[in-house]
Parts: sequence; structure tokens; C-alpha cells
Amino acid sequence: MSPSFPLASGASDGWSTENEATATCFCGAVQLSFPTEGPGLKGTFVCHCSDCRKITASMFASNVTIDNRYLRHIRGQDNLKTFAQSHTIGSGQTMTNYFCGTCGTLMYRVGAAYPGYSVLRIGTVDDFELHETKLRPRLEQYTKRRVRWLKPVDGMRQFRGMAFRSQSKL
Ligand SMILES: [Zn+2]
Ligand SMILES: [Zn+2]
Repeated sequence: MSPSFPLASGASDGWSTENEATATCFCGAVQLSFPTEGPGLKGTFVCHCSDCRKITASMFASNVTIDNRYLRHIRGQDNLKTFAQSHTIGSGQTMTNYFCGTCGTLMYRVGAAYPGYSVLRIGTVDDFELHETKLRPRLEQYTKRRVRWLKPVDGMRQFRGMAFRSQSKL
């Protein structure tokens, strides 16, 4: 498949089809593919929690939750490093972060309280057009932690805390 869209830096071989797309780290060593619609895609959301501010080195994270049965590692799975902790996680259970061992891009998180799912980063998806369309976040959570100079996004459901029940802080 040849790319037909403006590509992110580094990742020169990303692609998307009608219902699948790639996500690549900044250096290109790690590449995933995942479905851009149901049933493999469970949802998209922005999170303003303090963990998401830290792990993005920014003000919020933009996430897409994928059923692990539909997530493929195209390359670089053995280049992923992990960091896990539980003390700041809403559920009290461990959240494991998988990031590229070369460039440090966080590719996904997996929560022990939410087995079978991985939470990918929309920003790593190579086809930027999808950020505007199928992967546009549907809700914002932890708005109580949102920086005050950001306003609620039109059309996104707002949650002061966690939007998802019986699930760890994503
Ligand atoms: Zn990398
Ligand atoms: Zn968060």
C-alpha cells in the first residue's frame, strides 16, 4: 500500500485503508496497525488527568481504545520498553506503558483493571486526516484537571472525572 496522505515525520511508510491504519513512533522503529471502526475500535477520548499531562509532556492525551484481538505489531515489538505503576491510577490497579526504546514515544497503555484492551495515542497515527474524522475524540475526561486556558471542545461529552466505569484511569 502506498501512502496517499501527508505523513508524520520519520514514519515514511505508514498507510491507511477503509477500516485500518498504522501508528508509528517518532523514529519509525515501532509500527502498529489497528482498526479504525468497530468492533475492534472501542472509543476515542481526550484525557486531562495529571498522569496524561506527565506522560505526554503536554497538557492532555488523545486516546483510541483498541481490542487487543485486533491490534497488530507490524515491527518493533521487541523494541518496546515498559513502565508500570499503580499509585496514581484511579482503579488502584497497575497501568503499564509501552514506549519505543529508541525514541521514547509512548505507543499504548494497558490497564490491569481493563483486560483485553490497549489505549493507543491518536497522535502516533500516521494518516493525520483520521485525527479529524474517524479518530476525532468523542469525549473529554478529567476536565477538572484541564488547563484553564483550554475550553471544552464543541460536541465532545464532558466528564469531570473518569468517563468509564470499572476501568482504570486511561
Ligand atoms: Zn521510536
Ligand atoms: Zn489520563
